[in-house]
Amino acid sequence: MTTSPKVALVVGGSRGIGRAIALKLAQSGFDIWLTFHQNQTAADEVKAAIEAMGRACDLLKFDVGDHDAAKAALADKADRRAPDAVVFNAGIARDNLFVWMTKAEWDAVINTNLNGFYNVIHPVIFPMLREKRGRIVVISSTSGQVGQAGQVNYSASKAGLIGAAKALAREVGKKNIFVNVVSPGVVETEMVAHLPKEQILPLIPLGKFGRVEDVASIVNYLCAEEAMYIQGQVIGVNGGLAI
Ligand code: NDP
Repeated sequence: MTTSPKVALVVGGSRGIGRAIALKLAQSGFDIWLTFHQNQTAADEVKAAIEAMGRACDLLKFDVGDHDAAKAALADKADRRAPDAVVFNAGIARDNLFVWMTKAEWDAVINTNLNGFYNVIHPVIFPMLREKRGRIVVISSTSGQVGQAGQVNYSASKAGLIGAAKALAREVGKKNIFVNVVSPGVVETEMVAHLPKEQILPLIPLGKFGRVEDVASIVNYLCAEEAMYIQGQVIGVNGGLAI
């Protein structure tokens, strides 16, 4: 008798941390529903890598900040087959000192990073509750835990995600759905390519930046580990940047 493979929805899986998470979960035996926004070439490359591992990969292209588009992409699909794991990883930064921050910079970050959580998780949560199983991992940031100058918008969105995940963890825990947060420090991806690394490095007790694989391995644990008693927690992957 064969059992169908588990499915993981990786939101923002085309590049950076999300790409590493998708590959790691595929390695753990999940088929992947991989969402992305614009970068079709990067998404195609991840899909090919996942298929080379013998796993299936469906690509879903939509803006997480667009409620109707997220619902159209996910609601029917999740209703037919609830995902076993969901990783909400998509995120952007529009850094500026608050005194200079435009409404457009504020809105773009809140809409993608925080409203995106509602837009993506809401269509899949009822099917997951119906199945009485599942894992949700939300990618926040050290900035959301401690606040970061120049990132009032981003810190607010990432702190908001922590509150949302903790509250949801209380709502759905008895239905065997685990909700946790992974909070990276500085991880070498395109998003942080412009940062003054020489100024940040001395603040990190481990003396090095994170790698995408460092984040992917803890996400994989939270999605794949069978003996789990971790609920509503924020797990920092930051080399000691926030202790
Ligand atoms: P990248 O910019 O490298 O990748 C972002 C991913 O999110 C891409 O797959 C991108 O898709 C997708 N995405 C972005 N905006 C949207 C949108 N509006 N709708 C749908 N998908 C979208 O980022 P990182 O890998 O660096 O970051 C991943 C997550 O980790 C983010 O939430 C970020 O805030 C968080 N984080 C990162 C840290 C770091 O140091 N790198 C530190 C702390 C947290 P596409 O390829 O189509 O553009």
